[in-house]
Amino acid sequence: MKWLYIILLTLILVSCSHNPVNGFKELTVYLQPYNNFTTQEASILQADIQNCFDTLVPEISVKVHLLEVDTLPKKYINTARHRYRADSIIRNQHPQSGYILGLTHSDISTTAHGINDYGVLGLSTCPGHSAVVSDYRVSNKSLFYKVGVHELLHCFGLKHCPNNDRNCYICDANKKPQLEKQIYICNTCKQKLLHYYGGLSIPKVY
Ligand SMILES: [Zn+2]
Ligand SMILES: [Zn+2]
Repeated sequence: MKWLYIILLTLILVSCSHNPVNGFKELTVYLQPYNNFTTQEASILQADIQNCFDTLVPEISVKVHLLEVDTLPKKYINTARHRYRADSIIRNQHPQSGYILGLTHSDISTTAHGINDYGVLGLSTCPGHSAVVSDYRVSNKSLFYKVGVHELLHCFGLKHCPNNDRNCYICDANKKPQLEKQIYICNTCKQKLLHYYGGLSIPKVY
């Protein structure tokens, strides 16, 4: 009987180690610095993004890892304005597992608002596994990690905040990002995230 208890206890401990908190899924994120984005800069961002997810949604275990610096192919550059096409970058990033977030100091663009070469802070697939962010247009570099968190939340399946809450991390920047105002994930958005990754269902739309 004593052995049965020990076996049962071992099974419980093993199963707990695979379920971070109450059965929520673990999400693995890989940061991919490009060109002159140094490992040192990326490791600061890694700590900031990790800390942000730990604080915002402690129920979901988000693990942020760092990849070695890679080079962006020149063919991704839009020669007219010397910007990298964000859509080309995210289309060609393939994480072995989990999610990948490209990091660059260069200006990036995509087709948006009726403009072919529209400069952006970041772009992601939603839901999906690939995103890229640039700090080129971010005046307060210490808040750049918030752009990464925003794009990763899109990858995790969240559309822009339905409450249009300016304090919510996933609120639509609407051409004027106000990073200093983004301080939480509002309850509506958080509940969606917990629903997606609580083992109940995986986002299929958006
Ligand atoms: Zn929200
Ligand atoms: Zn967005």
